[in-house]
Amino acid sequence: MKLLVTGGAGYIGSVVSALLLEAGHEVVVLDDLSTGHEDAVPEGARLVRGTLRDTAADLLAGAGFDAVLHFAAKSLVGESVEKPGLYWDKNLGESLALLDAMRRAGVPRIVFSSTAATYGEPESTPILETDPTRPTNPYGASKLAIDTALAEYARLHGIGGVSLRYFNVAGAYGRLGERHTVETHLIPNVLKIAQGDGAAVKLFGDDYPTPDGTCVRDYVHVVDLGRAHLLALDACAPGTHQIFNLGCGSGYSVREVVEACREVTGRDIPAEVVPRRPGDPAALIASSEKIQAELGWKPERDLRTMIGDAWTFLRSR
Ligand code: UDP
Repeated sequence: MKLLVTGGAGYIGSVVSALLLEAGHEVVVLDDLSTGHEDAVPEGARLVRGTLRDTAADLLAGAGFDAVLHFAAKSLVGESVEKPGLYWDKNLGESLALLDAMRRAGVPRIVFSSTAATYGEPESTPILETDPTRPTNPYGASKLAIDTALAEYARLHGIGGVSLRYFNVAGAYGRLGERHTVETHLIPNVLKIAQGDGAAVKLFGDDYPTPDGTCVRDYVHVVDLGRAHLLALDACAPGTHQIFNLGCGSGYSVREVVEACREVTGRDIPAEVVPRRPGDPAALIASSEKIQAELGWKPERDLRTMIGDAWTFLRSR
């Protein structure tokens, strides 16, 4: 298939682009390089530098694309609380421009990077796709609005859409890994301390209602996550919008992740408890039954593999 990957110079977009190329697809990456890296675009993909608003319509018109995989987004929860307008503009506004460009060019399918943040504070775990969506920050709210727009474009314009709601993504695929300028995620931050970059891991709160008091999250390897996109692409059906959670269905606490990083790296990783980070739910665990049953997806890489691959990636840089 001829595929447009928005945000293909970013962490997840670059890994999925590599997997799509390996599967024999033609890949064009559209990325404004605001947070992505030109050298992360896999060899064999064509990079077009630009925003969705300015570039998508011209790129798609008459070019015979079969589908779009849409990763381009702002994704920092804290920043979204400080600058909600930026998140509505970049995430929702640019996605609407993309959807309209698809409609006009007759591109029939889209796989979209949605997020567990659309659910907000869960009433119960594991979280089902049918659970209430009550995002607690502009990042999650903007992604939920895109899910809603996708459902409408499917119903009214016949597009086939799949939203994958990511839980916590980790790991690396060879030379493709997490390279955020502002790193907020737990595993890369712990591994930086293991490398000697900083004194101690900050554990954001140990007074949550969880077994060891630290937050519990559902971690999924970026390659397993990437494989789900190829299955989702095949599952796009005209006129329907489907939503799948993408997590492993089991959780690890922040302390358990730090301990696993100590074991994998063989390094002494000091940690200190600091106050809670505002807006962190105590536990986020996906029900992955729907994606397993309907798309036949299964996670194959465990937490130690995620940490090991991220560690190899970090040390190679
Ligand atoms: N966390 C932490 N120290 C860090 C980074 C994260 O204690 O340096 C905690 C964070 O409060 C959350 C969990 O680790 O409970 C996962 O955070 P991350 O930012 O990786 O993902 P999120 O679940 O927020 O999407």
